[in-house]
Amino acid sequence: MRLQVSLLSALSLASGFASTVAQSEITGAGFPSLKQPVTTKALESLINRKNLLGHAEQLLKFSELSNGTRAFGSKGHEATIHYVKKLLERTGYYDVEFQTFTWPYSESTSKLTVDGQDVWTSTFTYAPGGDVTAPIALVANDGCQASDYPVLTGKVALIKRGNCDFGLKIAFAGGAGASGAIIYNNVDGRPTGGTLAQPTRPEGPYVPSAYITTVDAAGFIEKINAGTEVSATIHATVINEDRSTSNVIATTKQGDRDNVIMAGAHSDSVPAGPGLNDDGSGSIAILEVALNLAKFRGPKNAVRFAWWTAEEFGLVGSEHYVTQLPEAERQKVALYLNFDMIASPNSGYFVFDGDGNATNVPGPSGSEVIESLYRSYFDSHSIKTGSAVFGGSSDYQPFVDVGIPSGGLMTGAGGVKTAEGAEWWGGEAGVAYDVCYHQKCDNIQNLRVDVWERNAKAIAHSIATYANSIQGIPRTTRPPVSSLRVSKLSYEERIHLTCDHEDDAA
Ligand SMILES: [Zn+2]
Repeated sequence: MRLQVSLLSALSLASGFASTVAQSEITGAGFPSLKQPVTTKALESLINRKNLLGHAEQLLKFSELSNGTRAFGSKGHEATIHYVKKLLERTGYYDVEFQTFTWPYSESTSKLTVDGQDVWTSTFTYAPGGDVTAPIALVANDGCQASDYPVLTGKVALIKRGNCDFGLKIAFAGGAGASGAIIYNNVDGRPTGGTLAQPTRPEGPYVPSAYITTVDAAGFIEKINAGTEVSATIHATVINEDRSTSNVIATTKQGDRDNVIMAGAHSDSVPAGPGLNDDGSGSIAILEVALNLAKFRGPKNAVRFAWWTAEEFGLVGSEHYVTQLPEAERQKVALYLNFDMIASPNSGYFVFDGDGNATNVPGPSGSEVIESLYRSYFDSHSIKTGSAVFGGSSDYQPFVDVGIPSGGLMTGAGGVKTAEGAEWWGGEAGVAYDVCYHQKCDNIQNLRVDVWERNAKAIAHSIATYANSIQGIPRTTRPPVSSLRVSKLSYEERIHLTCDHEDDAA
């Protein structure tokens, strides 16, 4: 009787102005919802590129609040996480919270002009700030021996990349008296930045430095060898400060909280750029899935979405979450899905290798079930899939470390597409999956929208599947783990865990 009366009044309300309120009120009171139960097809059908791109435009605007970056703690990042939180709160479907903490932020930037012309440059972490103007002097060989360096007092050293640490080269240059140092790439293209790998070296002091392309360097070398003086100005700045920042965590109000389905993406970018692919693409995809899931009746299993902060500083937000999560709550997380870079311009379709068949790095037991769900999904769309390794380069790692079955999708970062990959997915062999990886040009034009939409639909498919049933995923008690692997790393080592960073210490 009471049910009927309430339903009736809810129905009359639903036809009027307050339909959303009425629906959430009855579901909240334990009455059957007017909404339909979620199905994979229905949730997938609500995902479209127009909505994905709408959020992308917002994220790009937010990056403009802080000089083109959404690095953690910047205005662009704060705007991003408030945007996500507000949209989720509006649905009334989720308990949404900020998990706030403080983490040290460090940023180095370099500007270079040569003979009055601006030259594109990347930078090195640990390099000192300072302003230097001096003639360029050449360093012999690859600059890995002290004997490669002439006396460099009052000079800026020009050194080729390769065969030893950047840090060693810069220290040798400082030891030889140079007031600045420029390293040039030994392969084509713009270098994505690097690290001096340790704060100090016995070989000499670090000096303000820049990191340029082979092509630019060749021009300078030619002039110098012809006896012309070439003058370089390096303007290097360094910021070191503690910043307060937040993960956004949203859990469906309904559903079994003893079987929580988790999906995550990182909300921050690198300081160098707006991070639309890395990881606007993953952040936006799970946001759209979350917003559309809210149109259905409460799920059978609770679904929790997470937007991790400071991934680019070494999986900081996800590590904080898993570390702070009490053992009993960790056990309730049935599985974790990670989406970091899913719209790379020269995309591959990579599924995390849960069973370890392709990479020899299996995920925790149950990860193979997630892998096979995604492989079947792409098979059914006649899309071939490659394998991504659980190599510690994104936010799945803290979950893997505590034994939570994990999986996810990615479309490639700085790695180079093979001939086979180009055959499978189109695009260009011999070119990086994302040529704008960790750079300023990771903007909206950098997003491959068809791949992004397909991956977002695959995410919808997986969330709807597991919201209804986690059949096949083991639910035995996992042995407790006290310390995560990432927690044992130094600040500097952590930074180089992020987003498939490769080969950047030499
Ligand atoms: Zn990333």
